Amino acid sequence: MPIRHALKRALRGLYARALFHTGAHALVDRIMPRRLLVLAGHCVAEAGNAPLGPNMRIGAAELERILAWFARRYEVLELRRALERLAEPGKRSLVALTMDDGYRDNLTQLLPLLQRLKLSATIYLESAPLDERRLNWTHKYFWLQERIGLERLTALYLERAADSRTKELLRPGLSAYHHKRILKYEAPAPERTRIIDELFRLEGGDERALCDQLYLTWQDVRELDRAGVEIGAHTVHHEILARLEPAAAAREVGDSKDALERTLGRPVTSFAYPFGRRWDYHAAAKQSARDSGFTSATTTHAGTNNPSTDRYELKRVMIDEHTQLHLLVAEACGGFDLLRGFGLDLAE
Ligand SMILES: [Zn+2]
Repeated sequence: MPIRHALKRALRGLYARALFHTGAHALVDRIMPRRLLVLAGHCVAEAGNAPLGPNMRIGAAELERILAWFARRYEVLELRRALERLAEPGKRSLVALTMDDGYRDNLTQLLPLLQRLKLSATIYLESAPLDERRLNWTHKYFWLQERIGLERLTALYLERAADSRTKELLRPGLSAYHHKRILKYEAPAPERTRIIDELFRLEGGDERALCDQLYLTWQDVRELDRAGVEIGAHTVHHEILARLEPAAAAREVGDSKDALERTLGRPVTSFAYPFGRRWDYHAAAKQSARDSGFTSATTTHAGTNNPSTDRYELKRVMIDEHTQLHLLVAEACGGFDLLRGFGLDLAE
């Protein structure tokens, strides 16, 4: 880690701890303009029985502690209502919990937790797992990695790849992080999806079973909807929208909305870009979110939102196993915005 980055990280931690433990966060919250912090998670599961890695899960007890802390001090609402409240006059700042992709534990772990705390949340769903019990390539990729290891996966992939750039980049000895980045951003998506599908089948993968293990069903989604959880859309196949032609991106965005509305019989107005970094969606995808009738779209860039923030590029702070409450509090109270006002940027 470069030293400046490490220093910034240490300062960020110190500053957040000071705000949190001295109670100064409450004072900062009062002097800073009203804002909305949107939290973004995936699975709610403990390390021992989680289907996905540490960046994709948060333990139920830890999530409950975080939400309970915020619920005592902020208005905690599902995103659609939080945005409505943000547009109205008021003093209290807001927090919204959002969960991406639609994992099963959102029903079995998250819903009971929300009910205990009398809170709601927004769950962004991919529609292909619901409609066809099909998985996007990443889950099959992780499954393969676990089963045969990175080296063998690379060798088998290269035997089948035609794309010269992929062949040049996929070398033995790559870290898991770089390996995934090459397949995600460099390999042509159709070829990658085809090869991962083929290897998954060859190694005995059962897509239906894995999908049932990971994802909610339509019945589960109806149950969450009836319980007052907001259902939002997250495209059909969880592709990087920026790598698609505008018309294909528009279909990914609009078709997921149609699928959800058909089943729920009510408007679905919240959207989240898959992966959500600025380079993962383009202007055309943003326009499709607007044209499809969504009233908001969220990214995965950290920060808080105020009444004038672009509703189609809302910021969110990711929550996972590494999340520390004091850092969330420093963000929620406007602590990092305050420092930025003094020319000091400690945000991630
Ligand atoms: Zn996602």
